[in-house]
Amino acid sequence: MTDLDKIIRPSLKQLEPYNSGLSVAAVRRLCGLAEVNRLASNENPFGPAPEVLKYIRNQQNDLHIYPSSEASDLRTELASYLDADADRLVFGNGSEELLSIIFRSVIEPGDRVITLYPSFPLHEDYAVLMGAGIERVALTEDLTIDVDKLAEAASKPAKLLIFSHPVNPAGCWMSRDELLAVLDARHPDTLLVLDEAYFEFALSGDYCGGLDLLAPGKGHWIVLRTFSKAWGLAGLRIGYGVCSSPALAAALDLTRTPFNTNAPAQNAALLALGNEAHMKTSAAAIAAERDKVKASLMERGLRVAPTQANFIFFETEMPSAEAADALMRLGTLVKPWKQAGFDRFIRVTVGQPEENRQFLEHLDSIRART
Ligand SMILES: *Cc1c(COP(=O)(O)O)cnc(C)c1O
Repeated sequence: MTDLDKIIRPSLKQLEPYNSGLSVAAVRRLCGLAEVNRLASNENPFGPAPEVLKYIRNQQNDLHIYPSSEASDLRTELASYLDADADRLVFGNGSEELLSIIFRSVIEPGDRVITLYPSFPLHEDYAVLMGAGIERVALTEDLTIDVDKLAEAASKPAKLLIFSHPVNPAGCWMSRDELLAVLDARHPDTLLVLDEAYFEFALSGDYCGGLDLLAPGKGHWIVLRTFSKAWGLAGLRIGYGVCSSPALAAALDLTRTPFNTNAPAQNAALLALGNEAHMKTSAAAIAAERDKVKASLMERGLRVAPTQANFIFFETEMPSAEAADALMRLGTLVKPWKQAGFDRFIRVTVGQPEENRQFLEHLDSIRART
């Protein structure tokens, strides 16, 4: 029998399994807990609009029919919502799938990819998978984006410039002028991927989405957004990208599977858009909670990153894996960061007020033990 090592691509050996964490049910069983606060995956605890829930509850017809390959109805509605051309939109089974599609569509071995550090794991993992070299632009000591360094890196030739904004895991962001400086500096041959998974939570006046600054047909760019976070549809898997040109969207469409987004997800996203007020209310409530929890962490003298997302990144006095394990045993799930230099950092999702209160109580109790 052939050695499996000769079959599997060597670049896979450099990858770690994605850390998606334990389910609430698994933690209840493992730790003998009745209540578990799930604050590890940046989901929206308020869930989707009631109209979406009603649709999903009644969804039983047409399950034997393939979905629209183009997500036609959603495409039309989203194009008008965003004031963008319908033929510049691409849809994915979550925006994570769009990341995979983008890397598979553009990267050849040896290409250069520029990203921020610490980074969203998939931005680096797909680069490794495709054999690209990664250039990391580190956050500053204050855990903000080093605008000058990012602009300088962006000005040099690379296949991809990719980062999330607000940044996952830190939550930090650039002002409109700073983002514009980075966008203006980018090399003309580079594809910019601006991952705006947390766009809807960034309510600070100086945050500016990429679509307000990037012009169609000028340079090559994709702005990624998702229905998983603020819109409350993480379980259904649907995200989208707005591309600089129809030709770029068409190229990405060649790489996806023909029916990558399912019909309930397309319809739920459509209904969610039609009930935008629900999303806006919950995003505003989460943003207000976020600022309170962040202030509480700072009162405790902890190093906390500025954030406009629905999570907070902060340093603990112990290895992150240990802290996350101890918090889990008390009933709060968080994301321990593992990247070098940040392995004492925890990323905690902002939950409902009671969950946040319990998280702080659990954190105090594990810190008192050390
Ligand atoms: C959560 C997240 C995504 C995407 O999630 P999907 O559920 O696949 O849409 C993409 N990018 C970043 C930075 C994220 O944090």
